[in-house]
Amino acid sequence: MTNELRSQEFPVHAMSGDTEFNLFLSIWAPTVVGGLFAFLFGACAGSFLNVLVWRLPTGQSVVTPPSRCPRCGHQLRWHENLPIVGWLLLRGRCSACRVRISPQYPLVELLVACLFLAAFLAFYAPLDRGAASPFHDAASPWWHLQGFARSWPAFIVVVIAISGLVAMTIVDAKTMLIPVEIPTVVTIVAFVGWLVQGFLPESRSLREFVPIPVASWTVTFGAVGMMLGLGVSRWLVATRRLRPSFVDWADHVKEGDDGSAYPHARREMLVELAFIVPGVAGAGVACVLAGLLGFTSQETVCQPMTLLGGSMLGWIVGGGLVWAVRILGSLGFGREAMGLGDVHLQAAVGAAFGWKVALLAFFVAVFIAIAWVVLSLVFRRFSTFFQREMPFGPHLAVAAILFVVARPLVVWGVDQFARTIDSVVTSTGIAPTVDGVGGGEFDSKNPRRLPPAQLAEPSDRR
Ligand SMILES: [Zn+2]
Repeated sequence: MTNELRSQEFPVHAMSGDTEFNLFLSIWAPTVVGGLFAFLFGACAGSFLNVLVWRLPTGQSVVTPPSRCPRCGHQLRWHENLPIVGWLLLRGRCSACRVRISPQYPLVELLVACLFLAAFLAFYAPLDRGAASPFHDAASPWWHLQGFARSWPAFIVVVIAISGLVAMTIVDAKTMLIPVEIPTVVTIVAFVGWLVQGFLPESRSLREFVPIPVASWTVTFGAVGMMLGLGVSRWLVATRRLRPSFVDWADHVKEGDDGSAYPHARREMLVELAFIVPGVAGAGVACVLAGLLGFTSQETVCQPMTLLGGSMLGWIVGGGLVWAVRILGSLGFGREAMGLGDVHLQAAVGAAFGWKVALLAFFVAVFIAIAWVVLSLVFRRFSTFFQREMPFGPHLAVAAILFVVARPLVVWGVDQFARTIDSVVTSTGIAPTVDGVGGGEFDSKNPRRLPPAQLAEPSDRR
């Protein structure tokens, strides 16, 4: 009856509108439900991170005791412990002694929940409607085409890495230190996760869109050899055959000092170079071994090992890049440049997201650091938040997170930067015309050719 009425009044539009809505629902319903789960999962992860960032720097257990009020010791009831909602129900005060609870708790929970949701939408939102979906260019199409059921190990790697990056950012900004446990957990989860991902079925046509740049047999052998070599170095340090760097730091630098008084930064870099030598030797031996055993043909690469190799390669490139900058910077300036914590952080980024993101995020981090300096110069008189000295770790972490959940934004930013440089160079007359460099990668007339946009493209994978 109603259908008859409708079709008489609006013969075409009502019908097509209805079908269109049903179609829309069938396409987006799984995304909405999955996104809701991702958000709730993220809120719980954020709740755990709050415990982590308070207890790790002071050496307390992260499992026991249960959360309690730091002033009166009142143990939180289950509904007071709910992520985000608990703090709102309490209106930001302890229910026993009315002391204020920091809004950092609900804010971290909300942040991590939103990041998990953003990752889920960027990966799994429907592509069917082409450019109509706002998430069309957000990530490699591999995620959506594989579906969650056949890409969950990779998704777990990504969300654990995001959680670790948020935790490292907070701890580093507060204490200027990165607890090595966090990047270690992220790295182990990345190695295991990508290995397990390799055992899940995948159509051959999707292989070139795998979101982590995969490795050939030779590279995988070399990566394993380097990790074994570095293991030997750690054993040498543990058995006191090799001295750790900066052992006499406390003799020269007092508490709260910025470290510029330490006189032997250049000498200590030679100690760290000695630590790396067994790793490089191991990589060399393993590459020769791969050749001798005949593991050179690309046809014989097996999926689990090639993904694990890609993850290990990312770990080496990310950590190696920051360590190289640290060693060169310290040798050049005679004072410690970048912490070993930053080396661990970027190594973990590489293990989770592959070597390309580790490399590009490092350079994006430099721009974020410059932006932070400018911001803090402008706002330091209004808020103490901007008066602190910021270590490099948070910039690295923010850059990596942006690459994963907001890649179009990063591409846009690099594009804007390239345009500015282009116009400055053109206006000063250093370069004859923009067309003269038209073939370059930073071609402002053709933003599609910017390097970050090529992340998903596998052109130079092997
Ligand atoms: Zn209390």
